[in-house]
Amino acid sequence: MTEHPRLSARIAAIAESATLKVDAKAKALQAEGRPVISYAAGEPDFSTPEYIVEAALAATHDPKNYRYTPAAGLPDLREAVAAKTLRDSGLEVSPGQVVVTNGGKQAVYQAFQVLLDDGDEVLVPTPYWTTYPESIKLAGGVQVDVFAGADQGYLVTVEQLEAARTERTKVLLFVSPSNPTGAVYSAEQTKAIGEWALEHGIWVVSDEIYQNLTYSDEVGGPAPRAVSIVEAVPGLANQTILVNGVAKTYAMTGWRLGWMVGPADVIKGAANLQSHLSSNVSNISQRAAIAALNGPQDAVEEMRQAFDRRRRTIVAELSKIEGVTVPVPQGAFYVYPDVSGLLGREWGGVTPATSLELADLMLEQADVAAVPGEAFGPSGYLRFSYALGDAPLLEGVQRLQRLFG
Ligand code: GLU
Repeated sequence: MTEHPRLSARIAAIAESATLKVDAKAKALQAEGRPVISYAAGEPDFSTPEYIVEAALAATHDPKNYRYTPAAGLPDLREAVAAKTLRDSGLEVSPGQVVVTNGGKQAVYQAFQVLLDDGDEVLVPTPYWTTYPESIKLAGGVQVDVFAGADQGYLVTVEQLEAARTERTKVLLFVSPSNPTGAVYSAEQTKAIGEWALEHGIWVVSDEIYQNLTYSDEVGGPAPRAVSIVEAVPGLANQTILVNGVAKTYAMTGWRLGWMVGPADVIKGAANLQSHLSSNVSNISQRAAIAALNGPQDAVEEMRQAFDRRRRTIVAELSKIEGVTVPVPQGAFYVYPDVSGLLGREWGGVTPATSLELADLMLEQADVAAVPGEAFGPSGYLRFSYALGDAPLLEGVQRLQRLFG
């Protein structure tokens, strides 16, 4: 009898999502009664705005939502996404260029499945969100890291991308605002990178899930716009997939509602894949998303202002810890300090050598959860999500000030 490995090589090669893992661990400890303050998952603490919940409630009473609907999404939602894409990404698309997915994560997965053949290379600005490498691997792609550290504001340059380009480079991943760093590319930087991709025939997968969450350097000042790469370089539209969703902007992480937008042939391919993988996203969530995108956007602005306030607090408080360097994030709701100055020193009887060990130490000794840099690239960093309430946000950092004081 032939001996087969129990798991396929494809699945054996991937790991559990590190962000979800740390989040689950923090929640389990809280359930046991430990006073854990968690900066782990990027998940707004707000309720989904009421007008969105109302739309979902109404949808539960409409029998047409009890049945299968088109795999690529409800026509009204695809239209709303097309309007939102024009509004925020400056790109005119038809509803047929939209596939509604089970969260942005499925859109990321499908984008790489549709574009990559075995051995195709993807340039990945590093630090990167923990899910991209696994999605690329599952599609047979080869990830090529392009590292930009705190000293360059976590922003890669065209020169770095060009140095990493080979004959096999098919895709550039572009994420602005970035998870995990909160870095936002300026309009000029975005344009330069887009023009470079266009010149070399490189596809772009642009994850825009945080595009509505950007912050000004001055209190009350206008927030910088995260200019979409297809707005900066319109010629790129025929080789770009935009990924987005309602989770972060509308406090709807649990509703699982994202989408991808792209050229018609690519979108048709993704819709074919989805018709076998998961079919339509829950109609209730789709109806809620229509309300979110087409309704008043005041609640979004209120949440953005709260995130901005928390961003200022956490940056100021983390900066007080000696050995921690804190670049000021301009978008998303993450801060990504360089904590290498804390490594190799003794804290409460433990000498962490890596940010992974440092995160364990913080959880053990201060009941504070953050995601170690190892989840996003090199060691030496921690990711803090500041999408939690103002009071726990402050208390958690104060615990760290005491631990590392
Ligand atoms: N995207 C969020 C994060 O980075 C949610 C968790 C996840 O899906 O990774 O924390």
